[in-house]
Amino acid sequence: MIGHFISRLLPKRFKKAPRIYRAAQHNIRADAIDEAALNVVRRLHSAGFQAFVVGGAVRDLMLGRRPKDFDVATNATPEEIKPLFRRAFIIGRRFRLVHVHVGHDVIEVSTFRSAQTDEDATDEHGRLLSDNVYGTQAEDAVRRDFTINALYFEPESEEIWDYVGGVNDVRARRLKLIGPPVTRYREDPVRMLRAVRLTAKLGLTLAPTSEAPLVKLAVLMRNIPPARLFEETQKLLLSGNAEETVAQVRRYQLLPSFDALLSTPSAERFAGIALAHTDARLKAGKTVSPAYLFAALLWPTVMRERDAHLETGMKPAPAFIAAMDTALEEHAQMLAVPRRFQGIIREIWGMQPRFEQRQGQRPYRLLEQPRFRAAYDFLCMRAENREVLRELSTWWEKFQVADSDTRKAMQTAAPQPDAGSRSRPRRRRKGHGKAAAPSAE
Ligand code: ATP
Ligand code: MG
Repeated sequence: MIGHFISRLLPKRFKKAPRIYRAAQHNIRADAIDEAALNVVRRLHSAGFQAFVVGGAVRDLMLGRRPKDFDVATNATPEEIKPLFRRAFIIGRRFRLVHVHVGHDVIEVSTFRSAQTDEDATDEHGRLLSDNVYGTQAEDAVRRDFTINALYFEPESEEIWDYVGGVNDVRARRLKLIGPPVTRYREDPVRMLRAVRLTAKLGLTLAPTSEAPLVKLAVLMRNIPPARLFEETQKLLLSGNAEETVAQVRRYQLLPSFDALLSTPSAERFAGIALAHTDARLKAGKTVSPAYLFAALLWPTVMRERDAHLETGMKPAPAFIAAMDTALEEHAQMLAVPRRFQGIIREIWGMQPRFEQRQGQRPYRLLEQPRFRAAYDFLCMRAENREVLRELSTWWEKFQVADSDTRKAMQTAAPQPDAGSRSRPRRRRKGHGKAAAPSAE
């Protein structure tokens, strides 16, 4: 009754009927949908509710990619959904969803919601502070970010319901914001990062109207809460196409902290190596540790700070420790790297000078470190960046697997480390102001 009353007050477009694509008109078959998600949809149907697979999964399937997860959208409220399943939990404060556990899978089931656009619900920059109002399917579609993310697939009829022209955009391989771009970016500046991530990951073109406001609105990124910013940054870097994504982020100046981190050719080269490694690992189906990647992005800063300290006459070990502190305290902060990663990052860094100590018991102790593997991979990247000699990384490659006689011989043949832990002392020209780290002042 109330719903009926509200729907009469809504502007016409919210009552808009979807364009329905029948099975013969598109490429998605029900058997491409995860069994757990299918079961959830069927259960909701048999209880008399509407239920669709929605969002990234439909988009990915249309593009011929395997979806990461399958989300379900329904007109049932969380209270109506929960009793239909044996293991279902209502979660979330900002917007309540239901997590339905099926075997080892968790299917996220959300109730159609409407985006509130009255002024009370936004901050002074236009950022949406609340979107906790249930709505119609048409409203649910238009509050989503991009047209290709707002497609609903109904597995029993194999129909796609499209309120926003998403099917045509998928076919044109075009990423296009729903609604007026400036307003939509203001509501949630994270959408700018999503635009870049999704175009790079899926090989799409950003629609000119969605691209035009990016540089101008980049300042809004400052208003994103740190935890959310980190989550998105991490997704950006782990998208499988990080090199391209980072290039786009820099092109639109979305994350100024990246520019600060990659301000020298050497830093840029090292980041390029790290990102290429990450992409290659992900393509090969291997896991990537975010801490490792952030350790790499911050490493050139550590080196720069350390060099600055050495130039003031500090000893190598304290210079290195002070440099790690600065990199973590100041620069990791800009990227909102959570504390829990900082310990791992420090371990990976801290082991680097120790690779040069190849005499006595030291290399054996290093091998026993729990993060030896990560630190060794890191050393290889440094060798690739010609920051240490290849000889060092190949020595460790062999030493790890050699028998004890070979190891002894390798130790005898290994060059002695320098008095300091600097692997390749570099002379800095005096008066070259730009190269000096801020802390040297
Ligand atoms: P991915 O492949 O990275 O998971 P995705 O589009 O599925 O991409 P999710 O974060 O899983 O991304 O979001 C699921 C859906 O929720 C999206 O497809 C989109 O419809 C909607 N959505 C996500 N983030 C936003 C946002 N910032 N604003 C509006 N809608 C969003
Ligand atoms: Mg998703």
